[in-house]
Amino acid sequence: MRVEYDREICIGMFQCVAEWDAFEEDQDAGKAVLADAEETEEDLFVREVPEGAELDAKFAARACPVDAIAIYDDDGEQLIP
Ligand code: SF4
Repeated sequence: MRVEYDREICIGMFQCVAEWDAFEEDQDAGKAVLADAEETEEDLFVREVPEGAELDAKFAARACPVDAIAIYDDDGEQLIP
């Protein structure tokens, strides 16, 4: 499972931070930070979801009010949003 986080559209409400500890608050920027992610294009951060964190990652994606977080399965199919 893979997560993609679009920092550009994040509005810093931090619901994701409450759901999955891979997301941290950057209070100064008013944006979330996805730990251990690779920036594959400008403001797009990608990483694998570790085993055991799948539910938390899905909850984080569902909690985001602007759909800044997308979840993909191992076949590349988008699960959320
Ligand atoms: S829930 Fe969405 S908008 Fe809010 S901080 Fe997380 S990624 Fe940004």
